[in-house]
Amino acid sequence: MKMNKSIGCTVDECKYHAKKESYCSLDHINVVKHESHAKNQEATDCGSFQME
Ligand code: SF4
Repeated sequence: MKMNKSIGCTVDECKYHAKKESYCSLDHINVVKHESHAKNQEATDCGSFQME
């Protein structure tokens, strides 16, 4: 599978994860916040995640 070494990711439940190594296979992802003002890391997530 293709991997993008500019996007490290440990979410191997995602269908876009490179599996053998901890990278995303997409060319581009959207990082989103789920609070109106993100104050910590927990307030952000990958908006491109898709279940397998
Ligand atoms: S789409 Fe997001 S969650 Fe999925 S592998 Fe890429 S960076 Fe990780």
